[in-house]
Amino acid sequence: MTCCRVCQQAIKAPSLTAPAPALTSMMTFVDIPTVVHVCEACGHSQCDDLPDIDSFYDTSYRISLESDDHDQIFAVDDKGRPIYRTDHQAALGLNLLNLPDGAKILDYGAAKATTLRKMVATRPDLHPHVFDVSSDYKPAWQGWVAAEDQATYTVPESWKGRFDAIISHFVIEHVAAPVEFLKTLRDLLAPGGRVLLSMPDVAANPGDMTVADHLNHFSTASLKTAFALSGLSVEAIDSTSFPGAFFAVATRSDGAVENPVRAEEIASAVARALEICGFWEKATGAIDGSARKFAGRRAAVYGSGFYGSWIHSRVSSEVQLDAFLDQNPNLQGKSHFGRPVLAPDQVADDVEVLFVGLNPLKARNIIAQVPALNRKGLELVWIDG
Ligand SMILES: [Zn+2]
Repeated sequence: MTCCRVCQQAIKAPSLTAPAPALTSMMTFVDIPTVVHVCEACGHSQCDDLPDIDSFYDTSYRISLESDDHDQIFAVDDKGRPIYRTDHQAALGLNLLNLPDGAKILDYGAAKATTLRKMVATRPDLHPHVFDVSSDYKPAWQGWVAAEDQATYTVPESWKGRFDAIISHFVIEHVAAPVEFLKTLRDLLAPGGRVLLSMPDVAANPGDMTVADHLNHFSTASLKTAFALSGLSVEAIDSTSFPGAFFAVATRSDGAVENPVRAEEIASAVARALEICGFWEKATGAIDGSARKFAGRRAAVYGSGFYGSWIHSRVSSEVQLDAFLDQNPNLQGKSHFGRPVLAPDQVADDVEVLFVGLNPLKARNIIAQVPALNRKGLELVWIDG
């Protein structure tokens, strides 16, 4: 029997089960099956625990540690230039939090704290603090966060009630007990202080449902419930400013918080989650079928992110995989699973099959914009058939 990570209701059976290995957000594999449970009581979806979760984040999880350039692309502007995640997060954070002069701000689960650093560059009056469950990132904090304002592994007792604002970007989806996590943040806030959280929006990016280290897949419904149970009153949940993610702001409350969620909102979250689980079940069968159909043929995969890596894991033993194609200039010229990453229009003339490893909600639009991928003799294989 599994319990909901948010509302603690029992969940009888999984809605998606796929055999090991499972793919992580860092494009590595862990030897566990993918098991997704959907909570009908609050609209939350969740994956099973990772084995040895603490050491995973302490020693294996190295997001953006390799170089300053390796910043995830989140969109391309109308002139075709990439927009990077941390630039956008910093701008959104300043905008949504509207911080007072000299505000004490904490980046919780900071990693290199690039977002906070960019906020401080724009607002030098801010007083930055950082916390992470690994000491690997310390060198990135030196020179702009005072030593006494840095913490690793445990948060100092003296930080309770201290902060005007806490930012925590793409952290809560990884934690086994999200309500406990939010209570911790709440207790670190000064009266009236606010948290800004970001996390994947699985409804807008269905790939997130099977990411092994994303233990939580929030809906707006389950997020509201989690805030209410943690003593935080929700101010805004923005699902449009950052495609594929929620940006949520909530304020510390000193009394009980009433949960604003409506029954219909929960029902629609559950329906969408079950639809996504069904999508993955079907996609797995379809991509395995395509791998057999195109066995031995020269192929490429568009996208070296989650979807492309997932396709690679299912087709690479059957087809002759030439390359990955990716529009992120920082990845072009590198290799992924031992294959070169090329700009999309550099696909070789004799490649016969292109597996499209992109968010299925956006894939057709993106491919339509690249003439080289719409040539005769190149067969396109979509995840959603
Ligand atoms: Zn629940």
